[in-house]
Amino acid sequence: MERRFSDFGEKLTAPSGIYDLMEDLGQALSAGGMIMMGGGNPAHIPAVEQVWRTRLEHILATPGAMESMLGDYDTPRGRPDFLETLAAFFRQRFGWPVGPENIAITTGSQTAIFLLFNLLAGPTAGLAQPRRILFPLVPEYIGYTDQGIAPDMFRAWRPEIELHNDDTFKYRLVFGDLTPDIAALCISRPTNPSSNVITDSELSTLSALAARSGARLIIDHAYGHPFPGVIFTTVQTPPWEDHVIHTFSLSKLGLPTTRTGIIVAEPRIIDRIARMNAQVVLATSTLGQTITQPLFPSGQLSTMCSEVIRPFYLLRSQAALAALRDSFAGYPHYRVHQCEGAFFLWLWLPRLPISDLDLYARLKRRGLLIVPGSCFFPGLQQPWDHTSQCVRLTYSADPAAVRRGMAILAEEVRALDTKPA
Ligand code: PLP
Repeated sequence: MERRFSDFGEKLTAPSGIYDLMEDLGQALSAGGMIMMGGGNPAHIPAVEQVWRTRLEHILATPGAMESMLGDYDTPRGRPDFLETLAAFFRQRFGWPVGPENIAITTGSQTAIFLLFNLLAGPTAGLAQPRRILFPLVPEYIGYTDQGIAPDMFRAWRPEIELHNDDTFKYRLVFGDLTPDIAALCISRPTNPSSNVITDSELSTLSALAARSGARLIIDHAYGHPFPGVIFTTVQTPPWEDHVIHTFSLSKLGLPTTRTGIIVAEPRIIDRIARMNAQVVLATSTLGQTITQPLFPSGQLSTMCSEVIRPFYLLRSQAALAALRDSFAGYPHYRVHQCEGAFFLWLWLPRLPISDLDLYARLKRRGLLIVPGSCFFPGLQQPWDHTSQCVRLTYSADPAAVRRGMAILAEEVRALDTKPA
């Protein structure tokens, strides 16, 4: 008799872009020799790593601190004193009226989103139709694509493409109707992969739409404000409203292995997340919470974000863009999304004669790892040829390696594009 897996098991273990991406990243990092322009690993910034080192030394030198960090389970909601610290930070920094009852820690923000999606959407007692998550602007984070336990859980709005006079473009949100099946809208800001930062007015329109239709709005700030703060446009404080759920992460500050995600929302959501945490992970990881806690009230974390981390990525983005332009000089059939934050350039090749997946495979054979764009359109129902014409290029690696990577990429693209203009 065949031993079968459950529907839940089959759903979460089906082939997925995020699994392949993380496998590729891990294999390439351990094998060495690859130019790493895939994945979203934060850069190793010496001044930032020095802060972690100093904190760890302090923890080791403080009697009982290391023992508590490694040896004590915390509550399924997080370390109580860390929650107090964060609440005070958000009150002071954003003016949000929040206390520890508004905050839950998760095992990375990937888990935060997984728990939220499946808390809010899927078959729901008393409702004839299963509920869904809507992505108001795709391309959107590859890691969302297969997170729904229920089938067919996502929908998306297709944006307009605004062409600029130079070689850049920008996605503009096109608002649609919120049908009754939509439990929540979700947007990353800046958006992984395009780096698009939706404007304050787009955000408040989304929030108003969600409020009017009884839906929630999830804003994923993994790269955004207040930490790590890798946003190159000017934005206001995100809104505090009962139906808005904010997720944050310590990963992109340079602490991805501590697996620390943060949800800030109304207590009804937080309480449910804590209960889900208890089932899935029992208690949260203390490492990131202990390392960063004193850096919030002292202001050191905010200063590090504005004076070290943001300028670092801004410089890297400019170097990557210059390398891209040099490599593609004279080739008119490429465009790059206006770089507004995060760690990526999003390249559009409207005349690519092969799929983005084939381009990815060719580049990998040449020692360059990028991410094919078609994995970034979760929930889009109608066909759109644009989805197979883009690739995501991470620029957090060493600029010399990025320059070599851009040269390989441009060489392949030029060689492929033999169609008459
Ligand atoms: N959200 C976005 C937009 C991301 O790009 C990532 C990771 O790359 C995550 C969430 C998850 O990050 P983590 O689980 O490390 O907090």
